Amino acid sequence: MNLLLIRLIIFALLFFAGLKLYRMYREWKLDREELLEGDDQAAAEGHMVRCRYCQVHLPEADALRERGDWFCCSAHRDKYLEEQKSE
Ligand SMILES: [Zn+2]
Repeated sequence: MNLLLIRLIIFALLFFAGLKLYRMYREWKLDREELLEGDDQAAAEGHMVRCRYCQVHLPEADALRERGDWFCCSAHRDKYLEEQKSE
C-alpha cells in the first residue's frame, strides 16, 4: 500500500515536471517564431527614404532615384527637376 502511494507521487511529480517543460518549450518556440517574423517584416519593408519634393517617407523599393535624390513618384521627380532648372 505504501509502495503504491510512493509510485503515485513519483508519477504525479514526473507528470507536472513534463508539463512544465512542455510549456517552457512552447513559450521558447513562440518567442523564436515572433523574432523570426519580425526580421522578415523588417527585411520586406526595407530602407525608408524621403521624397525630395513632398518630404513623404516611403520604402526604397517603391521610390524613384534621380541624381542622388529620392522621389515618391515620377510627377514629383519631374517637378523638382524643373524647379532646379529654373533656379
Ligand atoms: Zn513626393
